[in-house]
Amino acid sequence: MLKQTIKNFVSRLLAAPPNGPERLARDKHGIDRRLVSRHAIKVCEVLNQHGFDAYIVGGAVRDLIVGLAPKDFDVATNATPAQIRPLFRRARIIGRRFQLVHVVFGQEVIETSTFRAPSSGNQETDEHGRILRDNEFGTHEEDAARRDFTINALYYDPIKEEVIDFHQGVADLKNRVVRMIGDPETRYREDPVRMLRALRFAAKLGARIDPPTEQPITRLAGLIEHVPASRLFDETLKLLTCGHAMDCLRQLRRSGLTQNLMPLIDRIFEEQGGEDFVEIALSRTDARVRSGKPVSPSFLFAALLWRLVHQRWQALANDGLQRTEALIQAADSVIDDQTHKLAIQRRYQSDMREIWLMQARFERATVRSIWRLLDQPRFRAAVDFLQLRAEAREVDSVLAQWWMDLANSSEDRRNQMIDTWQAGHTGARNAPAWRRRKRRPRAAEGAGQSESQA
Ligand code: ATP
Ligand code: MG
Repeated sequence: MLKQTIKNFVSRLLAAPPNGPERLARDKHGIDRRLVSRHAIKVCEVLNQHGFDAYIVGGAVRDLIVGLAPKDFDVATNATPAQIRPLFRRARIIGRRFQLVHVVFGQEVIETSTFRAPSSGNQETDEHGRILRDNEFGTHEEDAARRDFTINALYYDPIKEEVIDFHQGVADLKNRVVRMIGDPETRYREDPVRMLRALRFAAKLGARIDPPTEQPITRLAGLIEHVPASRLFDETLKLLTCGHAMDCLRQLRRSGLTQNLMPLIDRIFEEQGGEDFVEIALSRTDARVRSGKPVSPSFLFAALLWRLVHQRWQALANDGLQRTEALIQAADSVIDDQTHKLAIQRRYQSDMREIWLMQARFERATVRSIWRLLDQPRFRAAVDFLQLRAEAREVDSVLAQWWMDLANSSEDRRNQMIDTWQAGHTGARNAPAWRRRKRRPRAAEGAGQSESQA
């Protein structure tokens, strides 16, 4: 306990900037103010007008400096939530432990939080050093010190167009280095998710991880197991949807973190063709992310785990189990095995199962089952999945294309396609009228397309 307290103290000393922060003018940071959310600027202006300090902070500043489009804009200020809220027409206080304010402008929400103090050594932690409560307001300098990496501790004043940098974050960003603020081991123990974040920012920025920041990861990888499931899931998902998923996955494997997150991935990579399948799936995900399209978590995890499902499916079927039943058992066993480590949320699990189970039905369709498949809510995603399998040469690409065409067709065209299909399969020239169907067009159809693919 005493050892940890001393280590925390040293960590804070290390984190403290010797000569106060650097203030960088426009020509030193290069942020183009026109790319900054006008709503975030507005929040800073209003707070300034009321005598408070306010800055855009975190990922947005980092991304703007390197020329990436920020996902969202956060503001940090010395005003308390109770002082912030009345200054805006639509603002609400959220969070119980550490309150912050959501200032709402139409679709955009500017998350506005009060400067927070870092770990003091007096905080409540679990037996591994993980902070359980972290809810004290602090000074600007303290707020910078409690952030994870130097590149994430930059503050942009949109009125003076100045970046305030307590930890040489701009230099690290320009040199593409991910460096922990303070003592890396202590900071990973406080919050093991930072290990995943280090890998993600390195992949996203094409950066290297500073050796002292990288070195403890392999040794501490096991701490991931004590992180609450929902946070772990969120950070893993962010990692896989950062636009460089395959790099991240390789790095996860190198640092031993897959053992604690998705040990099945290691098994899949070791198997013939396993890595190729994952690579195809993830490069599609990356392409979607980079063109600003949404990615569905269930499709992504379905693809990551598929090769194992496929392998178990084939094995069970070879043992004489009926094919659909074999696939159901394979799917359940893979999901069960995965859940021991990273628990995938139930709603995603059920979508993954549906996507997988439809794969057997694509291969052995009848006229009736085709129409039933078309009614399935995850049909579109399952057809996209079939494309992926065709790309990996696991199924015939003509079959995959037929289903894709069917998914994209009008009702009349579907009737025609199914008639032709049936003629080819049974020798019958015309499908009996009772097998045809007139359906009301469904509003949801097509809309599913945008979110089904990964
Ligand atoms: P992204 O582009 O993925 O949103 P981000 O850096 O904005 O990246 P967030 O999770 O949105 O990441 O967090 C916002 C900021 O809060 C970070 O830039 C960092 O300063 C701080 N932060 C987030 N998570 C942690 C953490 N686990 N430990 C310390 N600081 C953190
Ligand atoms: Mg962010």
